[in-house]
Amino acid sequence: MSAPRPETWIRKSSAGLYCEPGDFHIDPVRPVPRAVITHGHGDHARSGNEQVLATPDTIAIMQERYGEAAGASLQPLAYGETVTAGDVTVRLAPAGHVLGSAQIVLEYRGSRVVVSGDYKRRPDPTCAPFDPCTCDVFITEATFGLPVFRHPPDAREIDKLLHSLALFPERSHLVGVYALGKCQRVLALLRQAGYKEPVYLHGALIKLTELYEILGVRLGPVLPLSGVAREALKGRIVLAPPSAIADIWSRRLPDPVVAMASGWMRVRQRAKARGVELPLVISDHADWDELTATIDEVAAEEIWVTHGREEALVHHATKQGYRARALTLAGFEEDE
Ligand SMILES: [Zn+2]
Ligand SMILES: [Zn+2]
Repeated sequence: MSAPRPETWIRKSSAGLYCEPGDFHIDPVRPVPRAVITHGHGDHARSGNEQVLATPDTIAIMQERYGEAAGASLQPLAYGETVTAGDVTVRLAPAGHVLGSAQIVLEYRGSRVVVSGDYKRRPDPTCAPFDPCTCDVFITEATFGLPVFRHPPDAREIDKLLHSLALFPERSHLVGVYALGKCQRVLALLRQAGYKEPVYLHGALIKLTELYEILGVRLGPVLPLSGVAREALKGRIVLAPPSAIADIWSRRLPDPVVAMASGWMRVRQRAKARGVELPLVISDHADWDELTATIDEVAAEEIWVTHGREEALVHHATKQGYRARALTLAGFEEDE
């Protein structure tokens, strides 16, 4: 018997991607009875599902964020282990995006579909590296799915920050970072670059950073920003969520150099619009080269593209001889 066409058993529903023979959704946008979650970002891991299957680290992140609402029944599945749901085998493979992030590897009657979730290919000291899995259908994100997006080496971006700090010892350096992943990665990269001073954290970043430490990711000394005297922040690095940057709040800092760590900082107008003086192109998503190399590596006949700039990647994959199509799923943010 030949393998069933993938679109007959995995498809879009109003709640997101649905695997019919397994009767579960992947990263559903509204509560469902059974959810498999790729990673802890808010547009992928939502609260209120009944059963949740995810890596142990993703479950810990969801519990930290949602408490009881993380799900009525939480089932951790380590990378590489398998469970079955109906006639479907489910395995999680590292996605290299944030701590706990996973690709969902599904097998049904001899055909294999990989749902990448969000991913990147370059090394990240805070999470396991992306593990390419050969498959029949690869469902890829495309957040930075345009040839213009080529992320520079992250060590170079961190050097820019340290260089500015050396140049302006009287100024604080305020870096916009998302609370899950980017904050901890910037800390780890600073430590890799040899920076040993304490880094000050906005209150919204503390819980998840502590959780990373509990889960075994060493990030060096951090201190809460609240209650620290203005003077004490001269020549210091302060991390804060992007939403706090433009705040009156930031004016409490001594003459801050405003920086932001994001793949979007590649776009000059975006940095300008956010009042960012020192853009740092540090992304947790694959850039164009990583996306196209990954498509070749997993050797899938068919590529489904979602989550971002779908057309350019579909066009590229089609030109390379793959069957490719856009899988426009609602509810995902242009995150980072
Ligand atoms: Zn994400
Ligand atoms: Zn995402």
